[in-house]
Amino acid sequence: MKSIYAFEDANSKNRMLLGGKGAGLSEMTKLKLPVPPGFTITTEVCNKYYENKKRLPKNLMSEVTKNISKIEKKTGKKWNSNEDPLLVSVRSGAAVSMPGMMDTILNLGLNDQTVLGLAKKTNNSRFAWDSYRRFIQLFGKVVFNINDENFDKVLNSAKTKQGVINDSMLSVDYLKKIVSDYKKICEKHANRNFPSNPNEQLQLAIESVFKSWMGERAVIYREKNGITKSIANGTAVNVVTMVFGNMGNDSATGVVFTRNGHNGTKEIEGEYLLNAQGEDVVAGVRTGKEILLLQKEMPKSYNELNNSCKKLERHFREPQDIEFTIERGKFYLLQTRTAKMSAAALIKTSVDMVKEKLIDKNKALTRIPAQQLEALLHKTIDQNKIKEYKQLAKGIAASPGAASGIAVFDVKKAITMGENNTKVILIRKETKPEDVPAFFSSEGILTSQGGKSSHAAIVSRGMGKPCIVGCAELKIDYENKQCEANKTIISEGDSITIDGSTGITYVGDIPTVMPQVTEDFKTVLSWAQKTKRLGIRANADTPDAAKLARKFGAKGIGLCRTERMFNVDDRLNIFVDMIMTTNENQRKEVLKKLGQLQKNDFVQILKAMEGYKVTIRLLDPPLHEFLPNPEELMNKIYKNKKDVNVTETKRVLDRAKELAEINPMMGHRGVRLGITYPEIYEMQIKAVFEATADLVKKKIDVKPQIMIPQVSSIEELNYIKSIYDDVKSEMEKKYKIKFKINFGTMLEVVRACLTANELVNTAEFFSFGTNDLTQAVFSFSREDAESKFLPEYMEKELLETSPFQSIDQNGVGNLMKIAISQGRQTKKNLEIGICGEHGGDPNSIKFCHSAGISYVSASPHRIPIAIVAAAQAAINQKSK
Ligand code: PEP
Ligand code: MG
Repeated sequence: MKSIYAFEDANSKNRMLLGGKGAGLSEMTKLKLPVPPGFTITTEVCNKYYENKKRLPKNLMSEVTKNISKIEKKTGKKWNSNEDPLLVSVRSGAAVSMPGMMDTILNLGLNDQTVLGLAKKTNNSRFAWDSYRRFIQLFGKVVFNINDENFDKVLNSAKTKQGVINDSMLSVDYLKKIVSDYKKICEKHANRNFPSNPNEQLQLAIESVFKSWMGERAVIYREKNGITKSIANGTAVNVVTMVFGNMGNDSATGVVFTRNGHNGTKEIEGEYLLNAQGEDVVAGVRTGKEILLLQKEMPKSYNELNNSCKKLERHFREPQDIEFTIERGKFYLLQTRTAKMSAAALIKTSVDMVKEKLIDKNKALTRIPAQQLEALLHKTIDQNKIKEYKQLAKGIAASPGAASGIAVFDVKKAITMGENNTKVILIRKETKPEDVPAFFSSEGILTSQGGKSSHAAIVSRGMGKPCIVGCAELKIDYENKQCEANKTIISEGDSITIDGSTGITYVGDIPTVMPQVTEDFKTVLSWAQKTKRLGIRANADTPDAAKLARKFGAKGIGLCRTERMFNVDDRLNIFVDMIMTTNENQRKEVLKKLGQLQKNDFVQILKAMEGYKVTIRLLDPPLHEFLPNPEELMNKIYKNKKDVNVTETKRVLDRAKELAEINPMMGHRGVRLGITYPEIYEMQIKAVFEATADLVKKKIDVKPQIMIPQVSSIEELNYIKSIYDDVKSEMEKKYKIKFKINFGTMLEVVRACLTANELVNTAEFFSFGTNDLTQAVFSFSREDAESKFLPEYMEKELLETSPFQSIDQNGVGNLMKIAISQGRQTKKNLEIGICGEHGGDPNSIKFCHSAGISYVSASPHRIPIAIVAAAQAAINQKSK
């Protein structure tokens, strides 16, 4: 394989080899766009450099020299010449863009002789010496690791001495003195002469760019952005003929997007600077001018820019992010790459480009990272303001969206303040069902404990409230009504902002941006609906959530967690009474009340989803969430020694202790509860039938299904099925209706997956509970893993992502495949869904599509993401 390719000779499709910048330069050269001549040293050479103990391959520099000669021929300039010297830039560029993470050197080739040639040729000594001092500083910084401050001191003192404010006002004499001082700085730091031979300069620069690939900045950037070797393996080095935007007021440099990157409007967006070098724009040293002004200042160049934008868009079929330079009226392109745009801009450009026939609908759908759509469905932090605020702590992003408000640590206070229209962020170590009223009155919820499927996380997601959980850095002190992280104390009443999409909490009240479901967004969703093959249902426990999910495009409910229906104050007490009572007759009384409430809820939810299936899961309460806190009870007893209530409190305490479990998430929940207290499930099944009967009488088309959680054996399932059968015949007699209410099981216990061939004989449908299944397959506690040890697993690259976020395909996924195949061997068309939190994750959706799952079920606000991700999975599979 060759080590070096001239831009016109490279295979510009090979970004892994040439890096993004090299590939773009080559592609533009082939399109006959005005690119300064140059060549790319491949990423393979970078890898050889490291294999070779950081030494360049032997023949590399002779190859470089040959390529420099080629440039000489093309430009008529001469390397190391005293007349018309060829100068180059040396630029890094990996397969994916890593902005600012690696090094670049400009004006390379200058020395005490060539600077005179440049001055003569351009008839501009000031320009030549200014370029020279810039070169020495950049070279010193990149090659000799010298801090900018050393150079800035010299520059500032020269400016003071000459009595000028701006660099551009420095006289040639001062510039010459600066050059000489800069060289001394380099010589002192590097303990060697400043290299004057351009060949040596070039070799050192190439080596430095390769070194910057493993520089701390770059390594951390790759880690944080999940850039693995399969995405980018080493950096290429681009050696490009220098063109100068700083040769006077007929020169300029700028950066533009071919379409507006914030809202997608079809207009060139960007800025430029007259008489400046590229880095000045990027570094923000001077404030750029609005690109439209270029039309007035340099109409010819603006036209060239405009035409280039159009040509590049037509060619790449994507809006581009372009760097250009104008040297004495001549226009050059220095870089092009796919523009990184906001979610709103991605949507608008997708719809526009389809209208313009630049792309088809499939391409329009696949170019949008589904996850990014989240920003369109929730309030987001105003990115322009974020820099002004301090980060307080980072936890687990549990429910997306941003919210600001004052910190409140007490549930009751959060309710009163919220109801009085004060914006409140509820901060708790953890939350319990009795805290739910405070969720309604708070803008967002922040907890220091728990994972993605903790109570706070699930309830917030259901409500569409921003939430961060497991923020372990945050030390909460209820007594003093304050919390502390990173040496900052937040007291009750202080303003904070949480971003439930990133898990970050900030100090202060950061402005937020409202979500916008535009017509274009609706268009994209309608294309996706037609393309996808997976069904999309919602995890919804209330009529409001069901309505919202339907509005977003859900076709059915895949999981209605019935225990979550008791999250409202008046019901919660009844529910807790049911758990706490030891007397069967008393329980039956309580159950009657609950049954009536449940029936009413089911009526509302079924109505909201008329025409679509609604899967109602029988109770699966993690009991610890509902049990009174023994510590609090003890306190109560202690404080009210003489109180009459003490006897009752003691009874409650005894019962709470009796019911408490060491590991409640793997304890007495789900079907196990249904078996030990069959009257509970019987009440629920009846409530479903009663609700259905009411609606059928009104000719409303409803399709309820009953689903049993935590099943591990056919015996368990059959035990509940016999209760179902009894209720069914009783109801059919009572209402004289033939009910069609499917009876199915969750697959969330390992044994259930391994015996799916048995379960399928009773179950009319399966639904994977991937939260519990992940917990079981890894033996990781789903409550603790994400806040305790998973971040370190990811840091140490033992796991790429949390398995509670994205399905672990090799483990959990394989188990799912076993169950799917066993189930469908007996019932070919068996409906199999998933309803864990993975149902809204694009990667998991892709897996579900390929594994033959019938539908995914996600929380209402993730429905649009799921629809687009499902369409992308279908398109990608077809194109393979
Ligand atoms: C699951 O385990 O994936 C599931 C959906 O049930 P829950 O999260 O309610 O346990
Ligand atoms: Mg579960």
